[in-house]
Amino acid sequence: MSIKTTNPATNKVEKSFDEMTDKQVDNAIELSNKTFQDWKKTSYKERATLLHKVADLMREKKTELAKLITLEMGKVIAQSEGEIDLSASILDYYADNAEKFLADKKLSPEEGKAFVRSSPIGVLFGVMPWNFPFYQVVRFAAPNIMVGNTILLKHASIVPQCAIAIDELFKEAGAPEGLYTNLMISGKRSTALVDDTRIKGVSLTGSEGAGASMAEAAGKNLKRSVLELGGSDAFIVLADADIDQTVDLAIFGRMNNNGQSCVASKRFIAVEEVADEFLEKFTAKIKALKVGDPMDPSTDVGPLSSQEALDNILDQVKRFESAGAKIVVGGKRALDEGAFMQPTLLTNLNREEETFKEELFGPVASFYKVKNEQEAIDLANDSPFGLGGSIYTKDIEKAIKIADQIDSGMVFINSPTWTQADLPFGGTKRSGYGRELSEQGIHEFVNKKLIRVS
Ligand code: NAP
Repeated sequence: MSIKTTNPATNKVEKSFDEMTDKQVDNAIELSNKTFQDWKKTSYKERATLLHKVADLMREKKTELAKLITLEMGKVIAQSEGEIDLSASILDYYADNAEKFLADKKLSPEEGKAFVRSSPIGVLFGVMPWNFPFYQVVRFAAPNIMVGNTILLKHASIVPQCAIAIDELFKEAGAPEGLYTNLMISGKRSTALVDDTRIKGVSLTGSEGAGASMAEAAGKNLKRSVLELGGSDAFIVLADADIDQTVDLAIFGRMNNNGQSCVASKRFIAVEEVADEFLEKFTAKIKALKVGDPMDPSTDVGPLSSQEALDNILDQVKRFESAGAKIVVGGKRALDEGAFMQPTLLTNLNREEETFKEELFGPVASFYKVKNEQEAIDLANDSPFGLGGSIYTKDIEKAIKIADQIDSGMVFINSPTWTQADLPFGGTKRSGYGRELSEQGIHEFVNKKLIRVS
């Protein structure tokens, strides 16, 4: 059984689940399609009432839901609680704003009268990762339920209890059967579903490989797709930055979620005036991090999501070292039991080495000292990814000019890239395409229907 809860803090299997049969999946698609025929006729008010109810239930059950996140993927407990709050805020945000975002848009054509109406398109298929098991689902499902679409959700195989809990929240809130359906299937079976004519659009958050296979299937079937993939965000420290404060933000940017965030700050780039001071203070703070039980509120860094994830990153660090990187802190497995990695800092990286362009999905920071701002920009852009990035300086005008030159979907000034309901989220290059959240995120799976009156 490939779908199971394995506690990464102990590596013990806690619970296993049967995959759905092809017949069960077919029934789920059929029901979702049938429900769409009714759901698309509901008012925004009805849809909003449902989402507010799901948000209320989430907040009510925050403690138990947060424990499920921590049990299944190892996020430290305070951050799991934060994820539940964030997810509830996204549900409320779309419940409150969708009608305004989707209102008819009046046009002024040379002849006649015309407007564009936003109509739902049907059943959508979402494939989501384990790293923010509630947030990733909600940022896809909430806007689309408000649009009038229905949702089939294939969650990562290592967070089945979170997947079931989300499905149950919708049911408890009174969602009609088939509006939101959890599909218990493996990643391998996901792409084949895109061929089903009842499914009208697909959204995947995850790795480049999974994204490419879903996009290929969507392209073949001429269906809309949104891809939120990996990243290797630059964290650029300029000469006038407040170094103590910047180092604290660097720790958050890299170590939040045990280093497993697509928009984590991954490449730390400091100009030479402040590079040594930044490196010294960053090194000291990384050494001081407490690795341990993610249920213990005093823990800074919990385990990686699985033993496989730990093995992968240990292997990557070894390859980085062979390619010339120097391990300044960490580099090894931490603790005797569980999928724990020592918080790690790598230096001595040169830009020509292709290995260093890989995404490091764990508590491993890469540090680069550069001569000037232009070199920092060039290095930031020397990546196959283009998700987020951040710049640290007191000179906001200059930071905005630099932000203009960074090839990514999001640039934050004086904080690592992060997310909230009312800001668009998404990337360029190999980080994917399309946007989620905010007003932009709600228009991805909408038929912009022109209505013209002569
Ligand atoms: P992953 O292996 O791609 O898994 C993500 C989802 O895709 C899971 O539900 C997985 O199912 C499914 N999947 C796997 N192979 C598939 C395939 N060939 N076709 C269709 N679906 C498939 O991703 P991961 O390694 O767990 O997650 C980490 C990656 O996600 C990192 O690169 C990270 O940067 C990225 N990420 C991006 C964002 C963003 O918003 N840009 C957010 C979070 C994470 P199974 O679990 O059953 O294999």
